[in-house]
Amino acid sequence: MLTLLADIQCGGPRRPDRADIVIAGDTIERIGPAGSFRSDLIDTVIPCGGFLAFPALIDMHVHIIGGGGEAGFASRLPQIGAEEICAAGVATLVGLLGSDGCSRGLLDLYAKAKALEAAGITTYLYSGSYAVPPVTFTGDIVKDLVLIDKVVGAGEIALSDHRSSHPSLSAMLRLASGVHLGGLLGGKAGILHLHMGDGKEGLGPLIATIEHSDLPMEMFVPTHVNRNHSLFQEAIDYCLAGGRIDLTAGETAGIPVPEAVGMLIASGADISRVTVSSDAGGSIPSGGTAPMRALYDDLIGCIRAGLAPETVFPLAAENAAKTLRLYPRRGTLAPGSAADILVTGPDYMIRMLIANGRLLYDARSR
Ligand code: ZN
Repeated sequence: MLTLLADIQCGGPRRPDRADIVIAGDTIERIGPAGSFRSDLIDTVIPCGGFLAFPALIDMHVHIIGGGGEAGFASRLPQIGAEEICAAGVATLVGLLGSDGCSRGLLDLYAKAKALEAAGITTYLYSGSYAVPPVTFTGDIVKDLVLIDKVVGAGEIALSDHRSSHPSLSAMLRLASGVHLGGLLGGKAGILHLHMGDGKEGLGPLIATIEHSDLPMEMFVPTHVNRNHSLFQEAIDYCLAGGRIDLTAGETAGIPVPEAVGMLIASGADISRVTVSSDAGGSIPSGGTAPMRALYDDLIGCIRAGLAPETVFPLAAENAAKTLRLYPRRGTLAPGSAADILVTGPDYMIRMLIANGRLLYDARSR
């Protein structure tokens, strides 16, 4: 089954070459100059004149079975549907539990991830919830990473937050070591994904864990670091020192993503170590549910603030794929990569989402 995206601009308007993208099954087979492929060999031709192609988004932090619950049972939030995910331009995500590792569990999370996979979306999981020791599938975080294919790390483990389990340094060292070893044995990224709260210790517990171990800095991915100014200043320094950081989309009380990315670039930080995720399905401090769409909207906000699309889209594609060790299968448009393609108009309105070669969202006629 060969599909041709005909006459499309690859990678952003500042790369004006018009291209044809040939998709074979779930993979990009070839990318060549527009008009260079014999259309009689193609099963389906999708005319894309005037459209732009980007790698589909990778969202590293999604509460796929819903989060919330922190104002009692009535505040538990609902699951996220595949339609909402696809309409937000996301083809790959990492699902996770949040503060509630009691009434919500990993088995439910796994089942939901499999359901989204059946709908065409690529899904991974973090074991754990806010608490240390973490909830696990197997009773052991190392075994989770080795034996459960979807598990790529632990998260979101809460630090510097009144809802955290206030883990000791030794508990953090034990957890991080298990994630690292499990990642090695299982051939996974082995990510320790850390929810950072507004607590007074800031990044302190993370930095202590790194300083008191020989663990690689790149395995730690603190998130929500743009939630307040003092935490974000620490995060800039952490990134300058070689650490990865993850910004949360839709932030309004702290530093909105477009402003945060601008500050990081101005600081001289290596932006390839910065990712943005949605926190979709979680509760937002002002009430309500964080939407999937916030991620894409913040990327477009970065472009409107003057940043080049070639800088902006990798924040939720190539950079995320490298963090999760999915690159170059995902996070780029190249022969041999998964056919995860976000197609937009010149106004960056999402027109199509192709995931693993399947057209999952089509708004061309809207
Ligand atoms: Zn969180």
